[in-house]
Amino acid sequence: HLVLVFQTLFAVAVTATALGGPSGELTNSTLYTLCRNSDLYDLLDTIVNYEARFNHRYHYDWVFLNDNPFDDNFKLLVSNAVSGTARFGLISEEMWEIPESVDRHVMEANIARVMADPEGPYPYADSLSYRKMCRFESGFFQWHPLLLEYDYFWRVEPGVKLHCDIPYDIFRHMVDNNFRYGFTISMLEYSKTIPTLFNSLWEVLDRSCQLELLNSDENYSNYILNVDSNSYSLCHFWTNFEIGDLNTFRSKEYSYLFNELDKYNGFFYERWGDAPVRTLILSLILKYPQITRFKDLGYQHDPYLQCPQDLTIRAANRCSCDTKLDITNKWFSCSWYNKRRDGVRRLIPKKPSLQ
Ligand code: GDP
Ligand code: MN
Repeated sequence: HLVLVFQTLFAVAVTATALGGPSGELTNSTLYTLCRNSDLYDLLDTIVNYEARFNHRYHYDWVFLNDNPFDDNFKLLVSNAVSGTARFGLISEEMWEIPESVDRHVMEANIARVMADPEGPYPYADSLSYRKMCRFESGFFQWHPLLLEYDYFWRVEPGVKLHCDIPYDIFRHMVDNNFRYGFTISMLEYSKTIPTLFNSLWEVLDRSCQLELLNSDENYSNYILNVDSNSYSLCHFWTNFEIGDLNTFRSKEYSYLFNELDKYNGFFYERWGDAPVRTLILSLILKYPQITRFKDLGYQHDPYLQCPQDLTIRAANRCSCDTKLDITNKWFSCSWYNKRRDGVRRLIPKKPSLQ
């Protein structure tokens, strides 16, 4: 009996340690997924995986947003798979639909041009819903009534997979270290989707007397800049895995840059992705070291994955990935970013010429 009592006490102690970080409390955070009813089965696989690898120890809430109402089967199956509270939200037309300032003819002409590209169209070239999604994820998700209630979010997409246990409260890790944004994979964007994005940003910064931000040692400007050519490096955080501080996304600095960029209608006249738009803004407004890379996590969003090279870590966290497939050192990966703090001052970049 005594053994049993000790075992129970031990289990309670271990659970308490697992649940608590230094301050022993859960943070005001939620997992967050934007998806459609048709994503249900990929989504369930992912939820079961995230619960097993992480959330069954913490029971964080999970917010699901959709531009159409979720159906009853979806809500039932998803609610039962999540160990915390699953919350389902509808996105208003105002946050989702193409704004009136967009000239449909200009947009259609862009789509026609891209579809006729002799090298082939880039991914999602002719999808209007994809363009709406990118705009929503860049500047509106953080204002959705359900997400307004939280401080931190962890974005999850249907079909993604964690390859290793996360044996600590990753949200508390963000809060305690004062990190505002965390990612795993980072890579180069298709330049054809954003021909005028960097130019537009440059103009916004110029108009608002903030060009200094492109030449600062305090922020992440040297991650987004090709120092030699004054152009965008095309590096972006792969936003299908990200943990972020919602208050940063709701800050007046972020909102200003997003709203000004949005006026160029590049989400529709081109196909600006949420990843490069958010990366550019965050790299300018966040101060080193408020961005962190989770290099010890195993994570997959097809067709790429990150797999920790360190055998000790893989064994401890029961990783199931093959390090040969790890993207980190591929040529199109930007994971070198954290070696970039070279402290070399540049002149304020000249207005870039259009590519
Ligand atoms: P990719 O990762 O760039 O290939 O784009 P995805 O197709 O994975 O879309 C990104 C995220 O937005 C995923 O979580 C999708 O489920 C979601 N998503 C994309 N388009 C729509 C849409 O039209 N409606 C809704 N509700 N979600 C969408
Ligand atoms: Mn995806």
